[in-house]
Amino acid sequence: MVERMTAAQDEIAYDGRCVRLRQLASGVAELCFDRQGEAVNKFDAQALDELRAATGKAASLAPRGLVVSSAKTAFIVGADITEFHRLFLESEAGIAAWLADVNEIFSAIEDLPFPTVAAINGFALGGGFEMALATDYRVMSTAAKVGFPEVKLGIIPGFGGIVRFPRLVGADNAVEWIAAGMHNGADAALKVGAVDAIVDPDKLRAAALRMLELANAGSFDWKARRAQKKARLMLDPIEAAMTFQTALGFVGAKAGEHYPAPLRAVTCIQQGAGKDRDGALALACRDFAALARTPVADALVGVFLNDQVIKRKAKAYGQAGRHVARAAVVGAGIMGGGISYQNARKGTPVVMKDIADEALELGMSEANKLLSKEVERGRLTPDQAGHILGTIRPTLNYGDFKTVDLVVEAVVESAKVKKAVLAEVEAEVGPETILATNTSSISIDELASVLKRPENFLGMHFFNPVHRMPLVEVVYGEKSSKQAIATVAAHAAALGKSPIVVRNCPGFLVNRVLFPYFAGWAMLLRDGADFVAVDKVMHDFGWPMGPAYLQDVIGVDTSHHVEDVLAKGYPDRMNKTFKDAIDVMYEAKRLGQKSGAGFYRYEPDDHGKPKKIFDSATYELLAPVQPDGRHDFGSEEVIDRLMLPMIIETARCLDEKVVETAAEADVGLVCGIGFPPFRGGALRYADAIGMRVILDKCARYAGLGPLYEPTDSMKAMAASGSLYFPK
Ligand code: NAD
Repeated sequence: MVERMTAAQDEIAYDGRCVRLRQLASGVAELCFDRQGEAVNKFDAQALDELRAATGKAASLAPRGLVVSSAKTAFIVGADITEFHRLFLESEAGIAAWLADVNEIFSAIEDLPFPTVAAINGFALGGGFEMALATDYRVMSTAAKVGFPEVKLGIIPGFGGIVRFPRLVGADNAVEWIAAGMHNGADAALKVGAVDAIVDPDKLRAAALRMLELANAGSFDWKARRAQKKARLMLDPIEAAMTFQTALGFVGAKAGEHYPAPLRAVTCIQQGAGKDRDGALALACRDFAALARTPVADALVGVFLNDQVIKRKAKAYGQAGRHVARAAVVGAGIMGGGISYQNARKGTPVVMKDIADEALELGMSEANKLLSKEVERGRLTPDQAGHILGTIRPTLNYGDFKTVDLVVEAVVESAKVKKAVLAEVEAEVGPETILATNTSSISIDELASVLKRPENFLGMHFFNPVHRMPLVEVVYGEKSSKQAIATVAAHAAALGKSPIVVRNCPGFLVNRVLFPYFAGWAMLLRDGADFVAVDKVMHDFGWPMGPAYLQDVIGVDTSHHVEDVLAKGYPDRMNKTFKDAIDVMYEAKRLGQKSGAGFYRYEPDDHGKPKKIFDSATYELLAPVQPDGRHDFGSEEVIDRLMLPMIIETARCLDEKVVETAAEADVGLVCGIGFPPFRGGALRYADAIGMRVILDKCARYAGLGPLYEPTDSMKAMAASGSLYFPK
């Protein structure tokens, strides 16, 4: 009642599409972000224009204070990346000038002649958190999260955060938050002083208004707080030298040479430390603009936008598919155990079936181990972990299968065994139940041939380890129904994974484009390259590991098998015409990490993880398949001979509609095999090099065979100058 009366007396002073300003009956004004027709608030050009106008209006109202709030579940999720990505095409000076203009808005809020407070009710990220930093005080809901994700896009906080935050929480805390790019909960935010109070969600508004009252009553010195944010950073010279020296070493080592933004954030804070707000903001605009123009920012923003494509599609699948309320997994091995855990962890009860008691015990103990780790990290309480474990039901029979919506088959990789198991499962489940196989190499259509309801069947290809790897390939066969595809894609998203929908073909998408890279590598070794030197070049290129090391991690036997499947699937370009390094390792039973030796030897390190050790015996083993001995290849040749086949095969997948979009193909590579994110994916990498240059490079290696033969679509793109990701 009181609430309604108050509302009736409030007066709307500014009413935009994104921002509303009300003069409250109490004499305080409220600037509320409430973007019409959308679920979240974000900063695009219109929201910024409205914020500028509403701030001017607030100044003219001369209220007793201003509370900045949100009418959505999130406070403000950040800047509209789609819009700002286009802006990054401008000159450095143009970007810096635009940013300086935007910063005038936030400085105008900071300079309002009355106390101000932000009521952070939900996600306040990037520009959203920077909005909150422009006010004098911040009250945060215990359910909210704040942080600066900008470095993950290759840039630094541009709306004043890099200036205000260190002045508020100290340079050391600011460096830690900004360079890590993480989200932070309310307790962490209060601890460093990023916010002034945390309260239960339903008390937020009252607490923010109370803060203004106290500021007006003189209990809080809002002018001193404001002066602190506008002044130089208070650090004595020795403290400053220590803080920045340590930060540069630590941040540089963590980010690595390919990711310049975190280091630039540190130097920006350092160089701005001796300046007042406006001086430091000018430096921030300069540094932001320099980073925004780098190919790294272009690629990282591209990765982000690709991910948005996947999320939008997953949402649409969610509407078209059926909800999976209960799942079952057949085979409790490495993959089946992981898939069961992931279902339970994300709230889907799961029946886990195997034929061996020991396998079930192993599956349950693995799940228990993962849950215990989450308890250790404070992400779950022991009770929650116990409850989750209780939703995995290990069994040796099909008792509960009648009531499940989805069964994921993860038994051994044998077409014969899988066909028998799938037919058996189909007889046990209801007519609507979807059946998915986690096969990594067997044709979905071949497996579907033994089923009575092939429309309910498809592939759901998880990667190892399931709880960590973000990708799932949803592989549809000739007969898979649209509803089955939608159900499985939506369920993969519900499991926290990025689903990409792929048409059935040998290798699906990820292995199909990875193995031509290995084939290029095998030829390079045959021609005399040193596998250790090649690993170094490709690691320096940005891969998490070079190809020989990757073979050891995948398992040489698995790789040998998939190589064979692809050779049969694409004989024109992947047929093997010589004995290669993988054959040698396979025959020598050096299967990689799992057998203690492959291309390298492995010994447990202090944490029990396998440590890679150079092994000269590998040179001796490889000598017979390196008939001309070993010699040096320049890094450009190494990179080209490995990367070109991968680019070409990805282009083929797009031509053949194995994946629908370039965005999905690149997500598959980044999330499935660790393609360097700062290069965006094989197709964005091709865009960056330029298709004409790629064709020249292909011509240079034409003598190596059809693996280096560009597609017609690539030739057409070179002729027309078109891109996979048009600017
Ligand atoms: P695994 O050998 O660890 O586990 C297979 C499990 O299936 C064993 O526990 C076995 O007892 C069980 N099993 C065998 N026959 C069964 C039956 N008739 N009914 C029920 N259970 C039965 O194998 P994995 O590595 O977990 O691989 C499983 C599947 O996942 C394979 O198709 C594999 O190609 C695929 N895959 C594996 C990886 C990987 O890196 N391991 C990655 C992606 C996909």
